[in-house]
Amino acid sequence: MCPERKLVKISRNVYYIPGRTVVGVIVRDDWCMIVDTGIDEDYGRRIANIVGEAGLKIRYIFNTHSHADHIGGNTMIIKKTGAMLLAPQIESSLIENPVLEPILLYGSHPHRKLHSKFVMAHPSRVDKTLTEGFDRELNLGYVQLPGHSFNMFGLTVEDVFFTADSVFPENLVSKFKIIYHFNVRESVKTLEKIKNSSYSIYVPSHSEPVSSISSMVESNLKSIYSVRKIIEEISEKAISLEDLISTVLSELGVIVETSYMYFLYSSALKSYISWLVDEGFLKEYLEDGKVMYVRVG
Ligand SMILES: [Zn+2]
Repeated sequence: MCPERKLVKISRNVYYIPGRTVVGVIVRDDWCMIVDTGIDEDYGRRIANIVGEAGLKIRYIFNTHSHADHIGGNTMIIKKTGAMLLAPQIESSLIENPVLEPILLYGSHPHRKLHSKFVMAHPSRVDKTLTEGFDRELNLGYVQLPGHSFNMFGLTVEDVFFTADSVFPENLVSKFKIIYHFNVRESVKTLEKIKNSSYSIYVPSHSEPVSSISSMVESNLKSIYSVRKIIEEISEKAISLEDLISTVLSELGVIVETSYMYFLYSSALKSYISWLVDEGFLKEYLEDGKVMYVRVG
């Protein structure tokens, strides 16, 4: 039985728990699978309590990707319930070795400030590594949604699509101005894939569920293309990597207050540069010990 007091029902056997990271709950008899676990142990405890009070045992945890705000509650929930952890390939290596997250962000041994819970969760052992496709035992589908992270997966069940961090609500797009993408070119493809899908309900990880996703997808695509256009414009004259990053940030009015935020933004912007270099729009060369970029043609 599933009281709607804390779990919000969205489909016959599908619920979610609202919060900073939306947690999906897929019910099967007296047990369930949960989708992501939030930022830390307190978040995990809250999820375990809500689900436990509804009379459900957590049998599986599905992590959509390895970012700390999606896996931080894993250890607490596994300790409390003995749940099995499922995650996509590659993401599972990061979930088991979360020190790789700040290494990925910083590009070298990360200093202590980058070891915060916003970057690095506690490690947890992945019991099953997933590939894309339909899971007959659980009667649900795993969908590859790469871009925001290396190999993020969404989940489809009944007529509901959990879209993880592939699409952000407009308030967050306008707040952050540059949404984090590990591979922005793949993010564009993933956004198009979601726009062309047809489900009754979409559940992004940082938004209320919506019945139509197209306007949210459009605002994410618009943001990506406007950042790309700024890079194209400022690289008309040769510019160093550092200056390119700071110019884009100041043109968008982004105020970076912590080194963590700087590395997050610069990592996202480097993925735009890779996109433009790979497509032949930007040329990369070295000058006086600086990496330089200039628009081709
Ligand atoms: Zn994420």
